[in-house]
Amino acid sequence: MKPATERPVVVLGAGLAGLSASVELRRRGVPHRVIEREGRAGGLAVTEEEVGYRFDKTGHLLHLRDAALREEVLSWLGPAAWLEIDRKSVVLSHGVTTKYPFQANTFGLPRDVAYACVAGFVRAHFDAAPREVRTFEDFCLRHFGEGISREFMIPYNEKLWGVHPREITARWCDRFVPLPSLDDVLRGAFGVDPPALGYNAKFLYPRLGIGELARALAERAGSIELTRAPSAIDWRTRELVLEGERAPYSRIVSSLPLDVIARLLVDAPGEVVAAAGRLRATHLHYLDVALNTPAEVDWHWAYVPSPAVPFYRVGVYSNFSTAMAPPGKAGLYVELSGRDAPDPARVVPEVADHLVQLGIIRAREAVRFARVRRIDRAYVVFDEAHEASVATIRAFLDEAGIDSIGRYGAWTYASMEDAIVNGRAAARRASES
Ligand SMILES: Cc1cc2nc3c(=O)[nH]c(=O)nc-3n(C[C@H](O)[C@H](O)[C@H](O)COP(=O)(O)OP(=O)(O)OC[C@H]3O[C@@H](n4cnc5c(N)ncnc54)[C@H](O)[C@@H]3O)c2cc1C
Repeated sequence: MKPATERPVVVLGAGLAGLSASVELRRRGVPHRVIEREGRAGGLAVTEEEVGYRFDKTGHLLHLRDAALREEVLSWLGPAAWLEIDRKSVVLSHGVTTKYPFQANTFGLPRDVAYACVAGFVRAHFDAAPREVRTFEDFCLRHFGEGISREFMIPYNEKLWGVHPREITARWCDRFVPLPSLDDVLRGAFGVDPPALGYNAKFLYPRLGIGELARALAERAGSIELTRAPSAIDWRTRELVLEGERAPYSRIVSSLPLDVIARLLVDAPGEVVAAAGRLRATHLHYLDVALNTPAEVDWHWAYVPSPAVPFYRVGVYSNFSTAMAPPGKAGLYVELSGRDAPDPARVVPEVADHLVQLGIIRAREAVRFARVRRIDRAYVVFDEAHEASVATIRAFLDEAGIDSIGRYGAWTYASMEDAIVNGRAAARRASES
């Protein structure tokens, strides 16, 4: 067996996490290989072009909390390639458009709905014996009260996750679900300028789509072996099996989904295989929609909680950046709540009719073409088994010299910034071990 010092680090997956790891390994002069299953790098952060319309894998907006990283990321493409955008996001419900987040913007809703939301919030706020929070449903009822939970939190999240909020824990939501103060809710109920709440009040977006971010990283990464995927990992000899080749490694930095990497391990302990079988994630079908007109709205994206509408979120790429569609036209993404593979001949006209009813397009005929797309693992389901299963697998991987990172490698709710930061940290660990 080659000594560890003569073996390369292997980076599995060339999404943002793997690319970022490779950039850092290269900067440190660490010999490594990058293996990617698809024909291009970028993972979820890619942009497809079709006759002048540019589509990401649904809205991908960059929030960089770390000031130094922000400066660095902007410099990769040059500041002119980036747009810094004030979020304009809305909720479409009860036939009206209200601002996001719903919980702090009930002004404009039918009066009985707004009353139920505010009264429920006040009751929950002053509840002398607040309910214990075990599930996400408990979290909603405790922090928002009955009205907001019933009108938005529960139906919207059920559409997004594909499971009822009582089936998931609240472990994921601290960073992603804004908790308004009583004052925010009251201001929002009377339309007295509530503050812009939430982590994404401003965001960065490349003029030509989020794929530019991955492209910039790929240009700085080591060479990427595309359309290759390991068929097994022999962790005892520290070798990958790659199309018959046995490729030695010193360490692996993997951003493959945690269940996938666990199943690649030769003779993995039974508890690791069992834990991999318990991991749950929801898949997502969405539409790329090209309009032959502009959109009728100026917002960036909208949340649609009603179970009667077959999608839970819709966004307008060309409102992020005019370069995302030909002049005078628009491109949209529509995230479907149904989990079964949709029949394009049925779903496209149905969605178009709802887009008309919601005032987003003027007529069905505005849709020039629409493509059905699928993301196999979109959201990790934070059920009761989640935490222990992830810990079991990652502890074993660690012993086997495998650092499992990224949204699906860590099996968590993570952002693009997390992927970049975690990739870099894993490269540091690999180079120091
Ligand atoms: C619908 C949706 C919307 C999102 N919106 C935002 C947003 O607005 N802002 C934000 O910051 N984040 C957003 N995210 C999260 C963001 O996309 C991810 O955090 C980030 O792109 C994850 O990067 P990654 O490298 O960890 O994973 P991935 O991008 O999934 O990369 C993993 C790579 O591994 C490759 N791979 C898989 N299996 C194998 C194999 N067997 N062998 C070799 N290679 C393999 C894949 O092809 C892929 O290239 C969103 C995610 C989703 C699903």
